[in-house]
Amino acid sequence: MSRYWSAVTRKLTPYVPGEQPKEAGLIKLNTNENPYGPSPRVIEAVHVQANETLRLYPDPDSAALKSAIGAHYGVASECVFVGNGSDEILAHAFHALLKQDQPILLPDISYSFYPVYCGLYGIDYATVPLTDDFQIRVDDYIRPNGGIIFANPNAPTGCPLPLAQIERLLQANTESVVVIDEAYVDFGGESAVSLIHRYPQLLVVHTLSKSRALAGLRVGFAIGDAELITGLTRVKDSFNSYPLGRLAQVGALAAIQDQVYFDLTRQHIIVSREKLTADLMALGFVVLPSAANFIFARHPQFQGEQLAAMLRERHIIVRHFRQPHRIAPFLRITVGTDSQCQALVDAFAAILQGATAATPSFRTG
Ligand SMILES: *Cc1c(COP(=O)(O)O)cnc(C)c1O
Repeated sequence: MSRYWSAVTRKLTPYVPGEQPKEAGLIKLNTNENPYGPSPRVIEAVHVQANETLRLYPDPDSAALKSAIGAHYGVASECVFVGNGSDEILAHAFHALLKQDQPILLPDISYSFYPVYCGLYGIDYATVPLTDDFQIRVDDYIRPNGGIIFANPNAPTGCPLPLAQIERLLQANTESVVVIDEAYVDFGGESAVSLIHRYPQLLVVHTLSKSRALAGLRVGFAIGDAELITGLTRVKDSFNSYPLGRLAQVGALAAIQDQVYFDLTRQHIIVSREKLTADLMALGFVVLPSAANFIFARHPQFQGEQLAAMLRERHIIVRHFRQPHRIAPFLRITVGTDSQCQALVDAFAAILQGATAATPSFRTG
């Protein structure tokens, strides 16, 4: 705390990202990165662009990228916004669209960055509890509000909400913006992009960090009615006119255009997720049904924190959240390569074996 800090800075509770370990050789299943890396076409495009033109500012509008995203989703460029990671887009959405007189609504268990943005921009919010089986119930959001935001599939549960439910919410909630954060939708969820022309209050936010394996490039995009996009652009142009550098713009464009690589890698992750889920259930884990590139799992005989620590001793890192209390028993585990998933299953098997050996009366199952 410095006496030079502003009042806002003093009151902030910043987001704490998952660890990016400095030591080599860890199996890193803690931040939902894609184990397969970006399309080779991305690497090539970035190489080609790494030249003397880097002295020039990039296109402030990222026009070529927006046009490619628009073509991919069948929407006009005017309905596309791009940002330096979807976190930045979410920040602009809070500032431009969700800062209203009434509190916004968000699930009690969701992406923990949302309350951080509320703190940063002075936005009141109310949390809506997930059901006992960790689902979003749309009826709970049908009440006066300044806006609604949640992730679909939700984070860190991985649970998807069917598109028909989102449409029901949009029909009932016409007076405020509904932001759907689809960071994980490419791994099996149903996207709401098809609804943007019928519901001008809908903003759908995507990232290239997960399904396009570009967390290091920092690119996200949003799709919505042109007037919502204009609102976001007003905030962006009052904040940073050049959020995407030249390398990011060409790399992201190449990623969007390589449909074959995209489909191949995300299908592989979906198949691996189903196998990992079955393997962990066979070891006695409770695993929530996931449509993401991670699973949310607990073992009835262990604390989440304890399991995470035992995995770490075996050089595997996963994510554990202490809060809210209801999710403290769970671990959020990124779906890695098949050999990484196998190493995880083997480590859990050894941990459970050890627990059985150490406590003769210990029963599994
Ligand atoms: C990873 C993630 C993001 C952020 O993605 P970036 O584009 O890397 O900033 C946003 N929302 C959710 C739910 C995420 O899991």
